[in-house]
Amino acid sequence: MVKLSGRAIAGPDEYGFSAAALDHLASEVVSVRRLGVQVAVVVGGGNVFRGNRSDAWGIDRVEADNIGMLGTVINSLLLRGRLTALGEPDVRVMTAVPIDAVAEPYIRLRAMHHLEKGAVVVLAAGIGQPFVTTDYPSVQRAIEVDADALLVAKHGVDGVYDSDPHKHPEALRFRKLTYAHVLEQGLAVMDQSAFILARDHKLPMHVFDIEQSGVMAAICRGERRGTYIGP
Ligand code: UDP
Repeated sequence: MVKLSGRAIAGPDEYGFSAAALDHLASEVVSVRRLGVQVAVVVGGGNVFRGNRSDAWGIDRVEADNIGMLGTVINSLLLRGRLTALGEPDVRVMTAVPIDAVAEPYIRLRAMHHLEKGAVVVLAAGIGQPFVTTDYPSVQRAIEVDADALLVAKHGVDGVYDSDPHKHPEALRFRKLTYAHVLEQGLAVMDQSAFILARDHKLPMHVFDIEQSGVMAAICRGERRGTYIGP
């Protein structure tokens, strides 16, 4: 299971879409598929809208989260489109909010069936509920479909550091962490509720920089890249 943030689709900008970034992300997914690995992707929507900015727009938070979820659907359709254009034979977008004309509803057993048959499954609209980002759905879906690991794709940072590497050049990257260490040290990996769910279900996590070509495939081949988090 890959957690892909919408930010990675925006390319150099904070918002919007970049054709080059989309091509890169889709190519990375294809390279993992070519290894014979079953791949599902939970796609974020931060490049379109974030629900926690509801105050700035003067709108209700739940409404804002609904808009954010629709953003993840847009990104998911972009990813399906590019994966298909790159020759991926079977790509399924499954949404937690029903939008039947453009995508299948998320049904756990059906998603697992698609994965077993070799389809890339793109999971849109998070868990279909407000007050969470796509961090929580990425962990939840990974556990639901019995994924071997969650690949947490970061944009421009190649793992978990002891302090922000953009502000502190001397920051050190961890190669391996336990869930307890992350929580004790308050390290920024993902939303805490999502992280605790991962810990409770002992879901192995790899945090890496999606900008670096071939990293996801390397992780799937068993190479140690970025930061590994486990029990
Ligand atoms: N969102 C939500 N429920 C979900 C998943 C997402 O309400 O299950 C909304 C939330 O407002 C979030 C937005 O969709 O801010 C976009 O997702 P996210 O912030 O995770 O995008 P990313 O940062 O990964 O690009």
